[in-house]
Amino acid sequence: MLGPAVSAHFNQLLRLDTNGPEEGSRTPLFGLDAEALRERMVEIGEPRWRGQQLAEAMYRQRVADLEAISTFPKTLRGRVRELGWVIERPEIIEEFVSNDGTERYLVRCLASGGAAQTVETVWMPEGDGGEVGDGSEAGRGEVAGGAQADREHRDEEWQRATICVSSQAGCAVNCQFCLTAKLGLQRSLTPGEIAGQAVSVLDRHQVAIGKDRVNLVFMGMGEPFLNYDNWMSAVRLLVNEVGISPQRMTVSTSGIVPGIERFAEEPAAVRPKLAISLNAPNDDVRSDLMPINRKWSIEAVIDAVRKVQLRPRERLTFEYVLLHGVTDQLQHAREVARLVRRSGLPAKVNLIAWNPGPGIAYGMPQADAIERFRRALAAEDVPVYIRRPRGRDIYAACGQLKRTIEAGKNA
Ligand code: SAH
Ligand code: SF4
Repeated sequence: MLGPAVSAHFNQLLRLDTNGPEEGSRTPLFGLDAEALRERMVEIGEPRWRGQQLAEAMYRQRVADLEAISTFPKTLRGRVRELGWVIERPEIIEEFVSNDGTERYLVRCLASGGAAQTVETVWMPEGDGGEVGDGSEAGRGEVAGGAQADREHRDEEWQRATICVSSQAGCAVNCQFCLTAKLGLQRSLTPGEIAGQAVSVLDRHQVAIGKDRVNLVFMGMGEPFLNYDNWMSAVRLLVNEVGISPQRMTVSTSGIVPGIERFAEEPAAVRPKLAISLNAPNDDVRSDLMPINRKWSIEAVIDAVRKVQLRPRERLTFEYVLLHGVTDQLQHAREVARLVRRSGLPAKVNLIAWNPGPGIAYGMPQADAIERFRRALAAEDVPVYIRRPRGRDIYAACGQLKRTIEAGKNA
């Protein structure tokens, strides 16, 4: 368990014990879709298209300051300000840069009336070694499968990048190997806070939507399907207002069956791809690692997943965290292969070497165990990728916020 000094440091990182800027009667507009913004404008006697201009400014041009909305006359900016309407979005307040190009940000979220909360967002140039689930080839310098050392590349150029977004501050699901779990659930994020992480990072890297290849993964802190409505509103904003294709997004769930069932009802036009955190070869092991499995077993999860109508060539992703001696043995690989094949689902498996953290008594898998596992799946014709460890030096794997403690201490 955490010592008091570490806890204090951690709380400070999360800004749990500090208040955000004075909220007063501030009404955040970031997070409202174009239609809601048009209505706002009509309410104050402005033409509807002013709402459209506002949406364009916030979501396409990524303007975060009212004064910088060039399409608004000065008088209108003044009125909006007097009403206490603000267009700020979640703000990057700290940045850690890895020698492999990965950048991890602490992003401060300010919900209206809510306490300031900090979450983690990650930028991974050159993709992610396969976990995106889009079936596309790995980026340059990556090999699908096979252990490979991180390449040093500090160049500014990137051909493809992935942004890992958080859906909650902390998480209630309590997976035993997960660092975010140790936080418990602090609060769910609003649609603007979820979409805003992506927009802030897109802005940071001057990404041109429609031109640059960017993927979003909802694999940061939290369980998206336990914050379903807000998460899905954020997805709609990112698709409809920001302009990112849902086929460039992947959501990962620990297996929240009612969430998966709702997800299955979403129209393909706004539905991201789906990843399931399997993490174990059978229910016994999975229930030990992920208590949620006692509520929804592997079979219940797979049954729910079958309801999702995959697009042509779309594949489901099973994420599988390798824990030394616990889930990385050869017989586990064979069980996983059988499980995936029996499911009849078009699926691939992403192997993730467990990232260690303080207070969690598991071991990292050895390189040869990872490779043996991969080969055993491949031998059974199960598509398998090894997720390249990213930003090890800055503790930047998604969902690894707890590592921040050490990063902070070492900084
Ligand atoms: N709550 C969702 C999404 C966030 S976790 C979920 O569980 O799917 C994203 C992924 O990180 C999950 O597949 C999870 O199993 C994995 N993960 C969690 N802790 C990890 C760790 N310490 N090392 C490696 N992967 C981890
Ligand atoms: Fe929550 Fe996912 Fe971590 Fe489990 S693995 S505790 S669901 S963030």
